[in-house]
Amino acid sequence: MQVYSYLVSLLVGLVIGSFLNVVIYRVPRHESLVRPGSHCPGCGASIRWFHNIPVASWLALRGRCRDCNTRISVRYPLVEAITGVAFVLAYARFGLDWETLVAWFFIAAMVAIAFIDYDHMIIPTRIVLPGALLGLMASVALHPQQWWMYVAGSLGAAAFMFALAMIWAGGMGPGDIRMALFMGAVLGKYVVLALFMAFLLGGIVGGILLLTKKRSRKDLIPFGPYLALGSVLAVLAGQTLMNAYLGLYH
Ligand SMILES: [Zn+2]
Repeated sequence: MQVYSYLVSLLVGLVIGSFLNVVIYRVPRHESLVRPGSHCPGCGASIRWFHNIPVASWLALRGRCRDCNTRISVRYPLVEAITGVAFVLAYARFGLDWETLVAWFFIAAMVAIAFIDYDHMIIPTRIVLPGALLGLMASVALHPQQWWMYVAGSLGAAAFMFALAMIWAGGMGPGDIRMALFMGAVLGKYVVLALFMAFLLGGIVGGILLLTKKRSRKDLIPFGPYLALGSVLAVLAGQTLMNAYLGLYH
């Protein structure tokens, strides 16, 4: 029975991941999410449903359009696979519970934000603000006794990012502040861990890029992907990571 549940989680994740590819491409371009249907970026041929099966179709067509042979980025199956695996891990963490649904919704939003910010240096308000509102409502409904923790997490994280933006001009933008609202609304106290992981990972990757001269100190590096990764890690393994970190001092 358990195997079956994991399989369903994986399939849901792959299908949502496929939809996220559309979100990642169209939201920053202000295009409709439903119309027109998926089409090849090269020749515009619409993609038949049997060529739109997550990951499998890309592999079967060897990453090329069936009609014009245009190369189709490995990003598409990658986004699907990441979402699928993360959905399985979320189910493993929370089981058959509303928490799983909240985690799936949050992970999906984080995947979309990470790639949109990476591509365009934009954290879309159309995702983070409704996300923050829905996230806060879900958190309060699921944890009515600790509702304040989510309000405090949301406002506290946003205030922290705001302070950073003031000190470090050009480092953080209003998008990062709004994103912190969303993170705190869902993560509660674990938003501290998510921010810590984001700065740690961002620092490591940024350092490597500087050292290998792939980026100069003047280049802007989008921070959304790190905030998203820190958030997903906090959702999937918050307590474990917190214990490991505290264990360093005992
Ligand atoms: Zn084509």
